[in-house]
Amino acid sequence: MLNLNLEQLQQHATPLYVYDMNMLRQTLQNAQQEAGKYNFHVHYALKANANTPILNEMRQHGFGADCVSGNEVKAAIENGFTPQEVVFAGVGKSDDEINYALDQQIFCFNCESKHELEVLNELAEKKDTIARVALRINPNVNANTHKYITTGLEENKFGINAWELDSVIELLQQLKHIKLIGIHFHIGSQITDLTVFKNLCTRVNEFQEWFMAHNIRLEHLNVGGGLGVDYYHPEQNPIPDFAAYFGLFNQFLELRPGQQVHFELGRSLVAQCGTLISKVLYIKNGISTNFAILDAGMTELIRPALYQSYHKIVNLTSQKPEVRYDVVGPICESSDCFGKAVMLPETNRGDLIAIRTAGAYGEVMASAYNLRTKAEAIYV
Ligand SMILES: *Cc1c(COP(=O)(O)O)cnc(C)c1O
Repeated sequence: MLNLNLEQLQQHATPLYVYDMNMLRQTLQNAQQEAGKYNFHVHYALKANANTPILNEMRQHGFGADCVSGNEVKAAIENGFTPQEVVFAGVGKSDDEINYALDQQIFCFNCESKHELEVLNELAEKKDTIARVALRINPNVNANTHKYITTGLEENKFGINAWELDSVIELLQQLKHIKLIGIHFHIGSQITDLTVFKNLCTRVNEFQEWFMAHNIRLEHLNVGGGLGVDYYHPEQNPIPDFAAYFGLFNQFLELRPGQQVHFELGRSLVAQCGTLISKVLYIKNGISTNFAILDAGMTELIRPALYQSYHKIVNLTSQKPEVRYDVVGPICESSDCFGKAVMLPETNRGDLIAIRTAGAYGEVMASAYNLRTKAEAIYV
């Protein structure tokens, strides 16, 4: 159950991000327990939420850090992750970002193109060091999720396509400052159909065979993240089914002796612990529904506008009979809408509204558009 105390909330200005730290801890414990059964290593994808109290919990629960920018690498290290626990992915790493990560001697660069491998080699040579690399391979597996969070199809910009691998291996023989330690995959996010991950395992096994046939032994397999959460039933189903998820990889991945398996989870670890609290400013009549106009908008939580995503909306202060509302924000964009035709108890100015499951890709995607002030965050 979400741990929200109304009196406590009312002391804060809105919009307000509230993080339920018990919920977070229960989730992290469960994930580590299930991953631990198979000695799987889980890196937390910082891009889902990089707030310091969240990162502290991750570190204390034994997660590594999965980063997609130089500043994320920096945030991980400044928040106490050791460089040996940091992996760095991303299609467009800048020279400065690579140099910083080389100086920190991070565990692994997940490289996404031949060109990037060449540049990384050159920069590592200048520093007289060796970069450990996992090749991010695009496995052409459909994640059955929203097209903006699909990353593992050949039409997507991510990863190295299978037909390029021959030339990648040839290239790697010339790159003396790169050490290939593994292969990496990340096919998308908010994946709720577990057969997608089974398909991924099949592809990973095929790629392993290919590398074996080329006499290349891979120490590390990184299968990325993407496990989805239940946005519709955050109360009934707050913790994703980590047992089924990790169990599936254990069942279907064919490992070689001594091989380590890595995961990069973001959303599934932090989505349910976060709630966006907002106050109702105005009620306005519409054609078929009324509008409830909130003081939070797409500048605080962009997911509905960007991905047409659903978030459960709750009125915390009204017990009246239900009425239908379009719940919208104050930003000058028609996409600034949290939900259409939402049934809520009759709602009035000053009511507190909770937008659930906002811990991942919420606060971290906030923008200053319309010169908005950044929302406060509290940890309860
Ligand atoms: C975003 C991302 C993740 C995390 O994805 P989730 O769906 O939040 O688990 C993992 N790996 C990479 C490379 C990513 O870009």
